[in-house]
Amino acid sequence: MAVTVERPQRAELEAALRLDFRSDTITQPTPAMRQAMADAAVGDDVFGEDPSINELEAEAARIFQKEAGLFVASGTQGNLLAQLSLTQPGDEIIAEVGSHIANAEVGGAARLGGLTVRPVVGRGGKIQPEQVAATIRPENVHYAHTRLLAIENTHNASGGTVLNLAELEALLEVANAHGLRVHIDGARVFNAAVALRCEPAQLAHGADTLTFCLSKGLSAPVGSLLVGAQDTIDRARRYRKMVGGGMRQAGVLAAAGLIALREGVDRLGDDHRRARVLAEGLARVPGVEIDLDSVQSNIVRFDVGGLGHTTASFATALQPSGVRVTGGAGASGVRMVAHRHIDDASVERALAAIGALAAAGAAAGAPDQRRLYG
Ligand SMILES: *Cc1c(COP(=O)(O)O)cnc(C)c1O
Repeated sequence: MAVTVERPQRAELEAALRLDFRSDTITQPTPAMRQAMADAAVGDDVFGEDPSINELEAEAARIFQKEAGLFVASGTQGNLLAQLSLTQPGDEIIAEVGSHIANAEVGGAARLGGLTVRPVVGRGGKIQPEQVAATIRPENVHYAHTRLLAIENTHNASGGTVLNLAELEALLEVANAHGLRVHIDGARVFNAAVALRCEPAQLAHGADTLTFCLSKGLSAPVGSLLVGAQDTIDRARRYRKMVGGGMRQAGVLAAAGLIALREGVDRLGDDHRRARVLAEGLARVPGVEIDLDSVQSNIVRFDVGGLGHTTASFATALQPSGVRVTGGAGASGVRMVAHRHIDDASVERALAAIGALAAAGAAAGAPDQRRLYG
């Protein structure tokens, strides 16, 4: 029996994307990516014979000035492999309390790595070096070994805040002084580099490993990379196989990833500019609570409790306008993200819709925090 699938018209899809502020993960592959995917040279990557993947891994290593790269299915997988490769079961890792690793990776560190996560409460997603020093456990028969510091840049749950080079350096120093390994969760590290006007490699300097996502602001359909020293990446490659991530002719995905790296980075500044315009517009809406200082890249987080809304009732009330948002912190937190399908008109329309909503008054509903991360 044939299954009929309703295919939305391309124009309809495009129009919907222009008002979809839920995440930069909703970005579609570009026409150049689709072409590159069709033309990609591929091979069996478990044999190390996929030329497109080999090229992407080499390119990632080059960009971050590390010895080797590993193509992985997702940022979550990259973070997991870094943790498995840099620790022993029973070890403890330090991560900021709102970080993706501490909150949004299904407890993989504990279940698959045998690791305890020690969450440290930061400000704006940033933990201070003194906090790290105070959290590292001394040698004692009662204590787990504190082995790894995980740093998230940009910090998603804090509104895409950017850790600058001096702040990074200070954290690396304290980690080095205590023999800790360092992993950077750089899901949006290119956003950080663009915001800081620095080379991406500077944001990986001194760290053992870094993960970044191709499938967020860079618009690739699938994939992330883990970069680090050759022996670390060799270990990560074995763990990737263990968790079922040994892919075969995945060069079709790597081909899109290469375009993402070559063509996706330069335009991230536009996303940051639009996020800023959006944030400043939101700050003028009576009842919206927003910390403009937290808006440093492409993510805008704000609170609509002052409008009498919960996250869910706010999202529902916006539905007729076509504007889509997702959850933020707490019952009335909202997140909006700028990306390749959001243009200046998208921001204007969103602000108009939210302004109209605020003017019309509010209704209550149940909170929805299903998409706090991502
Ligand atoms: C999105 C994200 C990840 C990983 O996401 P995947 O959906 O697994 O690719 C990791 N860390 C942060 C900070 C993120 O925002």
